[in-house]
Amino acid sequence: MKTQVSADRVAEIKVIKPQEFVPHAFNTQASLIHHSSYPIIMISPDVYRDILSIIPSAGEYNEIGWLCTVKELDNRKFLLDSTHMPPQIVGPGESTFTTEGLSRYFTDLILNNLAAANRMLFWGHLHPATFGTSPSDQDEKQMNFFNHNDYFIRGIFNRHGRAEFTFFDYQNNVRWDDVPWMIYYPVDTDQKRDAKWLKEVLVKVKTVVYRKRKFRGGRGQRPIVVISDPAVPSLGVQVGYFDSENPEGFVPREEMVWP
Ligand SMILES: [Zn+2]
Repeated sequence: MKTQVSADRVAEIKVIKPQEFVPHAFNTQASLIHHSSYPIIMISPDVYRDILSIIPSAGEYNEIGWLCTVKELDNRKFLLDSTHMPPQIVGPGESTFTTEGLSRYFTDLILNNLAAANRMLFWGHLHPATFGTSPSDQDEKQMNFFNHNDYFIRGIFNRHGRAEFTFFDYQNNVRWDDVPWMIYYPVDTDQKRDAKWLKEVLVKVKTVVYRKRKFRGGRGQRPIVVISDPAVPSLGVQVGYFDSENPEGFVPREEMVWP
């Protein structure tokens, strides 16, 4: 059924011209749908130790910078695996690699270790005096020099034990601020060690497997317990029971008092 609207009613409605929408100063932000996709910085124990040595060499106030090679591991992990110190000018407010020093350093490196030169994708520097690890304007500008790479990692360190890493994913036009870092301790397969521990476990550890059986006659319904490790048949089988007086105490068959 159609609703009739009278002409009077229509005339009553005030037509207000809407305010036009004006694009504001946008504060666009991206956030993760899956939290597992961010890069993680892994530091080899050697590189970590190098950094601990370099920092005191800068004295009490100065900055100092260095480069590291980066090896891509799986699952978005990026390993810093060697440390390099190109010539530079440092002071309490800067650590600048000289163009001449840097090009000479890289020319030598390309001749002697091309693979390393191609993997030099990390720039680290110590911030002056008691400063924090937030990037300065200069630190941000510096990153434009590296944007011909697929990615580049920046690490900023201070004298209070804080290290802050930013991952610049130039290929996808994304920067990841304050990404997690950790020291990388690879655990390799070690068959000798596996064998040593298996031997020790076989001798010292027995697994209890409960198999309740009816106790024929005698003193009640005590469960017979078979002790063995099904995964390791060579361990042998012990048959016995748990004493009802002392549930923790296993009585092997040899010591069992049969009815
Ligand atoms: Zn800085």
